[in-house]
Amino acid sequence: MRKPDMLLSVPPGTGVETCAVFFSDRARRLQIRIRADGSLQMTVPFGVSGKTVNDFLLEMIPWIRRTLPQVRHRAAAAKKKDTRFPDAVTLGFLGETFRTEYRWLDKCWTAARLDREGHALHFSGCVLDGGSVLAAFSELLKRTAQSAFPEALADLSERTGIAFRRCTVRLQSSRWGSCSADGNISLNAKLLFFPPEIAEYVMIHELCHRREMNHSAAFWREVSAFLPDWKARRRELRRLSEGLPEALRRL
Ligand SMILES: [Zn+2]
Repeated sequence: MRKPDMLLSVPPGTGVETCAVFFSDRARRLQIRIRADGSLQMTVPFGVSGKTVNDFLLEMIPWIRRTLPQVRHRAAAAKKKDTRFPDAVTLGFLGETFRTEYRWLDKCWTAARLDREGHALHFSGCVLDGGSVLAAFSELLKRTAQSAFPEALADLSERTGIAFRRCTVRLQSSRWGSCSADGNISLNAKLLFFPPEIAEYVMIHELCHRREMNHSAAFWREVSAFLPDWKARRRELRRLSEGLPEALRRL
């Protein structure tokens, strides 16, 4: 969106502080609208005086007061819908998709379980509480990653000849992995969502930090030696993580 030509302040009590004004040579009349994010936008034909613009804004205030809460309510509802737990979860690392099933029980917590044979992700307990479902899923994800990643890392360690000390699994929002100076490697449980070649890239990346504790050219040479296509994998990791359902991305 282009930058507004002018910002008008809106009188207090309307729920919005400013109105973005855009001059337009196509507009025939003054027009005001509330955008989906709750901000105000006015389109003004060229040649209209500042006073006319201000008067129009004041005239529209009852309409803004009436309409703004509706728009905000709709936006909040849409957002809520977005963050709903998905109907199915793909754990690409395991090469499987699990449909989500819920069983309400009179408990104050929720348990989550993967049924590999039935391809189902079962939640039971306080399943009407979205927060409780997410907490159970987070724990399940960590447990599942904990039972898969250390072994995969050990295999890669053998293949590359680069040793590490300990492998821990965490649920993190911003990092896919890390390697400490004393050789402990931490991996993000969310890597389970993606195919194994993506986790492999992160694991090799962290192993190579055992030789180069930085992202210098020498470091990337190490990575390239084991994974010539690391750039494509890194791009894919970014693409896949942006495509995750909102509820999973926020874990
Ligand atoms: Zn790194």
